[in-house]
Amino acid sequence: MGDTLFGKIIRREIPADIVYEDDDVLAFRDINPQAPVHVLFIPKRAIATLDDAQPSDAALLGTLLLAAAAYARNEGLAKDGYRTVINCNDHGGQTVFHLHVHLLAGRQMHWPPG
Ligand code: AMP
Repeated sequence: MGDTLFGKIIRREIPADIVYEDDDVLAFRDINPQAPVHVLFIPKRAIATLDDAQPSDAALLGTLLLAAAAYARNEGLAKDGYRTVINCNDHGGQTVFHLHVHLLAGRQMHWPPG
């Protein structure tokens, strides 16, 4: 699997506004925010897309979602609410092929997302 710019962020080869890190997960602010809070949660062990995830990745995917939820709770975002999104491939709008969870908060979200 090819490297992506998120791999470069993990290795600190390009800068990012990192807001959370543990052994498995890195989280940083989206460079083109779509809400007052827009943070990307990525696994340090890259998976290209959700379609590439295997049963052996179940724990890592859970860790990623729980990290996003904990961040939202700690930042006081959970009561008003927030949205988490995983885009997959072309029709999903995925542009960086290192699986990531978008955390969007700080404004009213709408459905369907368009
Ligand atoms: P997706 O379209 O779901 O693949 O999401 C990729 C996201 O990465 C987009 O929301 C971009 O704005 C964001 N992005 C691209 N380059 C950077 C960067 N250098 N630092 C932070 N976010 C980025």
